[in-house]
Amino acid sequence: METATEYLDQKAQFQAWDETQALGEASMRSLILHGKICPYCGGTPVLAESYGIYHGVDHGLVWICRPCQAWVGCHRDENHAPLGRLADARLRSAKTEAVQAFAPIWGKWSGVRKNARHLAYKWLAGHMGISVSRSYIAKFDVDQCREVVDICRTRNAQFDFDQFLERNT
Ligand SMILES: [Zn+2]
Repeated sequence: METATEYLDQKAQFQAWDETQALGEASMRSLILHGKICPYCGGTPVLAESYGIYHGVDHGLVWICRPCQAWVGCHRDENHAPLGRLADARLRSAKTEAVQAFAPIWGKWSGVRKNARHLAYKWLAGHMGISVSRSYIAKFDVDQCREVVDICRTRNAQFDFDQFLERNT
């Protein structure tokens, strides 16, 4: 049996979903990308401690939708703004693969060029045909994560990025 708090939570979630639908698709996409609503059920994520989900390991606070077991980390300041969209188990593993493929591309430059990571995202955005502000792995869906892996695993991805850095000095 659900508690009164859970009932009120759910009620608030449905209200948020109705309001969001009224806002139109573009605003909804933006709310999803900013972790304001759950991409899977439309519910409102709540701020929670992370040791419950990381098996006792504390990774700071997360925004979580418990019914979907979807969550995202947050900025470590007083606003606790979500780092991106909420991710379920499938998306979390796709993101891990994307990060593992992408990090080595710019990683070797991280000690050499202080904005290497930013430039790497710019390079990635160019290959994906999206704006750099939308090109962060934290904002990607499963298909986009797969695209990152494909791009980074092509034979000359490293060479291509090295050239890109030279052009962007
Ligand atoms: Zn949800």
